[in-house]
Amino acid sequence: MITPQAAKKLIDKHSMVLESVTMPVANALGFVLAEEVRSPIELPAFDNSAMDGFAVRAKDTVSATPERPIRLRLGKTVYAGDAPPRSLPRSAAHGIMTGAPLAAGADSVIAKEDACSERAELIITSPVRHGRHVRRRGEEIEKGAMVLRKGDWIHPGTVACLATVGRGNVRVIRLPRVSVITTGDEAVPAGTRLKKGQIYDSNSPMLGAMLEEMRIRPIRCTRIKDHYTALSNAVGAALSASDVLIVSGGVSVGDRDYVKSVLARHNVKEIFWRVRQKPGKPLYFGVRGKTLVFGLPGNPASAFTCFYVYVYPALRRLSGFRVGDLVTRRGTMSTQVTPDPKKWRFLKAESGGGAVVTPMKTQGSHMITSLPRTDSLIVVPPDGDDGNRENYEVIDLPCSKERQR
Ligand code: AMP
Ligand code: MG
Repeated sequence: MITPQAAKKLIDKHSMVLESVTMPVANALGFVLAEEVRSPIELPAFDNSAMDGFAVRAKDTVSATPERPIRLRLGKTVYAGDAPPRSLPRSAAHGIMTGAPLAAGADSVIAKEDACSERAELIITSPVRHGRHVRRRGEEIEKGAMVLRKGDWIHPGTVACLATVGRGNVRVIRLPRVSVITTGDEAVPAGTRLKKGQIYDSNSPMLGAMLEEMRIRPIRCTRIKDHYTALSNAVGAALSASDVLIVSGGVSVGDRDYVKSVLARHNVKEIFWRVRQKPGKPLYFGVRGKTLVFGLPGNPASAFTCFYVYVYPALRRLSGFRVGDLVTRRGTMSTQVTPDPKKWRFLKAESGGGAVVTPMKTQGSHMITSLPRTDSLIVVPPDGDDGNRENYEVIDLPCSKERQR
């Protein structure tokens, strides 16, 4: 049995970034950039007005005072989207709207609310500062400047940046193709009637939701009885189509736990089996070529923990994220808990993002009803001391940001 830290290292070592693909920027939310993006244009691309008002030549206004105002002839108004007028005659001004280009020669803008106009004249009572309310061409970005780095994560702000430099398509790391196989004679889908001895399958929908939370839609999701041949067929089909295969259940030492032998038969090389942790001890990890295979324990809370601690970081690494792991921080437990003498405990907990983290009362690996309130996991190492409640590693789950509100 290995430690969680060693298990994570081994998974990391086998989690290689996938190839890149080109896609429309509109579809690229959540992907990781596979290219450096430089701006082919200056930003702003031309001098334009930051205000609705009047464009003037500052020089024409230097001697303006309330007693001796200067009158400038008003030309046609320029609107956003118009081409810039060729030139501004001496002692003239033109109306201008926000985002509209300045006429050649105009260098400053007087905001509408600060201006006084009379018939076709603009009356100026004080000098206008050169460059006032003008967004200078290239003031933000020079032509050819780098705006995004390879490896940057694409969020809505990134999408805006890509669009503003004119990118319709972008090169990103593709998302992994993931298959989920749930095993168990007892597990039946919700919405059906339970026969004696049966339970509802919560792992399939839970794993599906966890993947969807990562914007990954599994390519197949299969529920299989504890039957060697049926499992073997499903595993064979999934392996050849997937970058990652997640099997739930059947990976322990039960008489019908066929997952390990089926995987071995399909030439999946076992990297490790069993981790010194609770819940989730029977976790299996293997590889076939570049395909990663996770055998998660069937107990729902074990599958939940193992997914976020091991599978989630691997999927993120494959997807090109610089950091795979969920955000961890240090927190104080609201109650004392007893460490396990040999294993790392991953306690389901609620923190609301705060420094004080409350372990759920029901920590059993078969217990599910505390999961909706679980927004973090507290890691309790085996050498911990009973009385200490401070300075524990807290893993914030993806749902924690939403739950803080
Ligand atoms: P296993 O890992 O197959 O030995 O299963 C361990 C425990 O998890 C058993 O109590 C199973 O009934 C339960 N279990 C297995 N698969 C599921 C599932 N898909 N949904 C809910 N519970 C499950
Ligand atoms: Mg089973």
